[in-house]
Amino acid sequence: MVLCAPIMKTTRSAKLFANAQQLIPGGVNSPVRAFRSVGGQPRFIKRAKGARLYDVDGNTYIDYVLSWGPMILGHAAPSVISTIKKAAANGTSYGAPTELEVILARMIRDAFPSMEKVRLVSSGTEAVMSAIRVARGFTKRDNILKFEGCYHGHSDYLLAKAGSGLATLGIPDSLGVPADFAKHTLTVPYNDIQAVQQIVKEQRDTLACIILEPIAANMGVVPPAPDFLQALRRLTEENDILLIFDEVISGFRVAYGGAQTLYGITPDLTVLGKIIGGGLPVGAYGGRKEIMDLIAPLGPVYQAGTLSGNPLAMSAGIETLKQLKARGVYKKLEDKSAALAKGIGDAAKKAGVPLTQTRIGSILGAFFTSGPVVNWNTAKLSDTKRYGQFFHTMLEQGVYLAPSQFEAAFLSTAHSTRDIEYTIKAATTAFKKL
Ligand SMILES: *Cc1c(COP(=O)(O)O)cnc(C)c1O
Repeated sequence: MVLCAPIMKTTRSAKLFANAQQLIPGGVNSPVRAFRSVGGQPRFIKRAKGARLYDVDGNTYIDYVLSWGPMILGHAAPSVISTIKKAAANGTSYGAPTELEVILARMIRDAFPSMEKVRLVSSGTEAVMSAIRVARGFTKRDNILKFEGCYHGHSDYLLAKAGSGLATLGIPDSLGVPADFAKHTLTVPYNDIQAVQQIVKEQRDTLACIILEPIAANMGVVPPAPDFLQALRRLTEENDILLIFDEVISGFRVAYGGAQTLYGITPDLTVLGKIIGGGLPVGAYGGRKEIMDLIAPLGPVYQAGTLSGNPLAMSAGIETLKQLKARGVYKKLEDKSAALAKGIGDAAKKAGVPLTQTRIGSILGAFFTSGPVVNWNTAKLSDTKRYGQFFHTMLEQGVYLAPSQFEAAFLSTAHSTRDIEYTIKAATTAFKKL
């Protein structure tokens, strides 16, 4: 790769995108892939290996999206691929229990002791939806509290966002979500413990749970304020409200035991996804035994899935977790991420570009605003047009960042020091061009 490469050839991607738009809404099967918030057209990917993506026009990119987090070992990690192949040869789905499910469930419980029992499902969305159902079943209450800017999948009541008033009832964020569902979702700003206290005071008898990303990574990256998680834990305990950590991103990412290990907090329920599937579709939810034992067939909370615990996904997940257990993995990820963040920060400063960086381990954020960024309202102040320009200059140089200011960048064990040096050089060029 050369710096300041000529404008890339993208004719095949453009043609595929035109065809895709005739067949698939917006040409994509998940909205952010369409590049709407940065402009331009998505690149169609042909294959990936390690830290690299290869598109249909023959362009190569260093990938910092990593399928939105799962590919922590890099793409097509040899041991994961060979495990999947072996599993596939034994059949791809049985609709009956397997040893693989027991192994993955045990690995999850060993890493997350708060998840005394685990249910495996097929996506993060499904896992969150189910965790909330069991929280409601356990508490026999309907309302939930979430935080503005936290994403918990696309199920109806989680697409609700409250207006600016503190205790306003939720209004839907998406057409097709009945107001009757959304009204059960109360929303407050992230990191605002006073706002939570206020709602708990008014609504304690109606609140089933408080759910959050313990490290918010779907409004850009917003770490929890010191003591925020501890305060939530105290408040929920005192008021018999369940605390749910959505660790779909942070689980096995910031530490083997996720954010709850990093911060020393024990939630009642935890939701996992992304990394635990090793690149295949998986989600999991789990928590205290007395809560999880309410789920069918043991109890009256129903939840099921034709492909739940799928043997290919279990195999990919188990092998990924095995690799992550090796000594020094998280330390190396931290060191590489720190070097990348420092290089980018220095380059921005030199170019006089206001940039607010946030990072927990290998989850990296950079907002085009002078900050500080502590919640959705402050994240929103970012200059998204500038991000779009930066994004495209990086893309042209072969660095694939998320096509939105409000997504995280991720590192994998496959990213080399040279990849990071190259990325910093590319960023230096991109900042200068702004
Ligand atoms: C990605 C994500 C989800 C949804 O997972 P899917 O597998 O996309 O359904 C839920 N919560 C968080 C925090 C996520 O980042």
